[in-house]
Amino acid sequence: MLFDTHAHLNATQFDEDVVDVINRAKMEGVSHIVVVGFDRQTITRAMELTEMYDFIYAAVGWHPVDAIDMVDEDLSWIEELASHPKVVAIGEMGLDYYWDKSPKDVQKEVFRKQIKLAKKVNLPIIIHNREATADVLQILEEENAEQVGGIMHCFTGSVEVAKKCMDMNFYISLGGPVTFKNAKKPKEVAKDIPLENLLIETDCPYLAPHPYRGKRNEPSYVKYVAESIAHLKGITVEEVSEKTALNAKKLFGIK
Ligand SMILES: [Zn+2]
Repeated sequence: MLFDTHAHLNATQFDEDVVDVINRAKMEGVSHIVVVGFDRQTITRAMELTEMYDFIYAAVGWHPVDAIDMVDEDLSWIEELASHPKVVAIGEMGLDYYWDKSPKDVQKEVFRKQIKLAKKVNLPIIIHNREATADVLQILEEENAEQVGGIMHCFTGSVEVAKKCMDMNFYISLGGPVTFKNAKKPKEVAKDIPLENLLIETDCPYLAPHPYRGKRNEPSYVKYVAESIAHLKGITVEEVSEKTALNAKKLFGIK
């Protein structure tokens, strides 16, 4: 059992061979995949994939980089989709201060609106944070996001920040960076944060783990993330796979 909690099989990078990619994931023991939508096109594609495959679920939300493009109709649409049985989370959402396409105040407003929506429909949220940790934590606290909880996706922060997120009812999700030789913080988090609070993900097609770093990532590679965590904790990869999958099923309400 391997649960990839964050995959973009809805990205154009998979247009040519998504069926092969999904078959490879199955062969490598991936039991569940959450495909994360973050704008009109990727949300539509995520929903299509959930209809095609039993073991694929969707998260629907609006990416902070594109916050400036979101209109009220988009938010109503996301709310409608939230009642679909295979939509398991709202997101990804958050703040991204690396790219400057959307002004910070617009990003913050779109982030807050989505947290309010998640509380209304009672679904967990998936958080994207790039170079915006202090503001992300502040908004999660002010909006009382603890009520729904969720995932700090592709977490690369410190153990200290991880603990603050856990206190607000968030899981820490590790991806490809934990496998990189020079990644200090993700390795510390993998070592110090209890397995009860961890999830695994690929964030494919981005952030491929070692030994595929720099290549296109895919869900079958999530096993390398599990292997790294197992190695750092000194436990078996089966234990990491089983426990992180159980954590994800519990959070997403999957039987
Ligand atoms: Zn993502």
